[in-house]
Amino acid sequence: MRKHSIRFCRLSAALICSVFLCLAVSSPVFAAVIVLDPGHGGNLTEDIGAVYPPFSEQDMDLFTAQLLKAELELYDGVTVYLTRTANTPVTLQQRVDFAKSVGADFLYSVHYNATGSHTYHGSEVYISAQKSMYERSFPMAWNSLQELAALGMHPKGVRVRLGKSGVTDYYGILRIASLYGIPAAIVEHCYLDNPTDRAFLLKEPSPVFACTAFAHADATAIAKTLHLKSRALGVDYSAHPNMQISVPVSIVTIDITPEMLGAGS
Ligand SMILES: [Zn+2]
Repeated sequence: MRKHSIRFCRLSAALICSVFLCLAVSSPVFAAVIVLDPGHGGNLTEDIGAVYPPFSEQDMDLFTAQLLKAELELYDGVTVYLTRTANTPVTLQQRVDFAKSVGADFLYSVHYNATGSHTYHGSEVYISAQKSMYERSFPMAWNSLQELAALGMHPKGVRVRLGKSGVTDYYGILRIASLYGIPAAIVEHCYLDNPTDRAFLLKEPSPVFACTAFAHADATAIAKTLHLKSRALGVDYSAHPNMQISVPVSIVTIDITPEMLGAGS
């Protein structure tokens, strides 16, 4: 009987040690999946985005997103995807379907703005007007504006826009992402047709300088929002305090479900 007790104690001790060892080795590793969406890209179709020589939005969206992907991949435990890798047509539905298929934690759509009147300048970020998606997307939008403002861009604000129905989001990326429950933001970095913003874009003969600066600002905003850290870059945003706000009831709508739209799941 005593022999059995000793053997049982030894077995128990070994088992406990194994469990502790297992916990130490397989402690959960934080992982984030980020989908970057370079806007437009129709090339020979109508969806080429803004064009104000020497700037072409579809090219700048893609180049900025590629630089952003490269920097984000220097963070620990991060997987980054692009919705397009060339100037080829990709529908809004395909972009968000892709984000859903890879389990995106955030869908970050990269754009540059223009008005034609050349009067507006600065950065603005659009997020869903639906209550829960607004709450989940706001910190990213806020951090993006802060980082872009640090480059000298005028912060126009975190904005929402509803479609004609007055119920769902105007922008398809946000509307579809909301139905899938994916937080998302459309980041308009600056205006390609405004003299103030063009002065920044033209600091160097090619848009490489500006796109690199914008990509770094975006990467920092994403890292802060998702509490990432990077041994390669020597930065740790795991304790970054994200902005918490009360949801402004005047600009948000109720959460819309696929069933309410008759779209199925
Ligand atoms: Zn655009």
